[in-house]
Amino acid sequence: MIKIPIRVMIVDDEEDFVEMLSLRLEEVGERMTKAYNGMQCLNLLEEKDHDVVILDIKMPGMDGIETLREIKKRFPLVEVIMLTGHGTTETAVEGMKLGAYDYLMKPADFEELQEKLHGARQKKEEQEERIRKAEARLLLRKSGDI
Ligand SMILES: [Mg+2]
Repeated sequence: MIKIPIRVMIVDDEEDFVEMLSLRLEEVGERMTKAYNGMQCLNLLEEKDHDVVILDIKMPGMDGIETLREIKKRFPLVEVIMLTGHGTTETAVEGMKLGAYDYLMKPADFEELQEKLHGARQKKEEQEERIRKAEARLLLRKSGDI
């Protein structure tokens, strides 16, 4: 079976963590983009389509929740997995109420991360498919066939 890479952006102010995770996900065939703060994340989403953003909650400047709000406002179909450290689990749950797909505790278990990435991409694809079908129905209706 041909594997279609997941287009993933990892956003974290800890550069070593970004490098490490990015390398490991590249090794299993995903297509990685690296960002080190919220603004950079938003600019890169503007430039290129992504499926999933892995987003650190604690970042200087624009924090994870603020970044999440902007992502969901401007790129509603992009799925977000929040990364939490100790003491920010409640914030992660708040993030899910704001539209994040799920969250992971740092240091993230790699298999769990991969499972969540695939789940998030699948959710996005299903939503895109529903939108395509709805648009097709709309076109049919407009042409008077229904
Ligand atoms: Mg951080």
